[in-house]
Amino acid sequence: MRMVLLGPPGAGKGTQAQRIVSRFGILHLSTGDMLRAAAAAETCIGRKVKRMMASGALVPDQLVIAAIVERISQADAGRGFVLDGFPRTISQAVAFDDLLDTEGLVLDHVVELRADEEVLLDRILTRAREAMESGGAVRADDNRETLKVRLDAYNEQTAPLVEYYRTRDLLRSVDGLQPVDAVTFELFRAIGQG
Ligand code: AMP
Repeated sequence: MRMVLLGPPGAGKGTQAQRIVSRFGILHLSTGDMLRAAAAAETCIGRKVKRMMASGALVPDQLVIAAIVERISQADAGRGFVLDGFPRTISQAVAFDDLLDTEGLVLDHVVELRADEEVLLDRILTRAREAMESGGAVRADDNRETLKVRLDAYNEQTAPLVEYYRTRDLLRSVDGLQPVDAVTFELFRAIGQG
């Protein structure tokens, strides 16, 4: 199964992706996690993107597309994957379609987790507080100021993907503000696996 999770920051994409992984045994591919790992390892790409990510802006398309092309060509991706945080722009979606075409693969589902902006701020601040209390690392972009930039990036650059996938008859929408288990239940049902 190959699937894309769409939704604004804090909508629960990472949490639901974990549940999809447990149920279907596919890979969880998060471009945010890949970029954070590159930044932490201070790779050449990591150094370039670290400041951009901390500002809340998207990093350049070519860079993320190259990372996804490379990751999806690895053998373990043959089992399928759930993409979390990619594609995030129309040009990423077009490049992804081209990649799938070239590989003779099909995208099975796109699920949008809908959530209202007021709640997202609360969730992000709670995630930062809980990470701090448990002695974990707090994401440099999990704060009130940067969230505004991330939400603007989502509304301007990523939200058009909802229509892009709707016209391809791939889009299903789920209310991401329900309790986590209810979101999972609806999500599985939306993809015909309820
Ligand atoms: P996330 O963990 O998905 O919230 O992503 C954190 C940050 O990584 C974003 O705010 C962007 O700076 C960067 N990022 C992650 N995925 C992408 C993507 N597909 N395109 C551009 N930037 C991305």
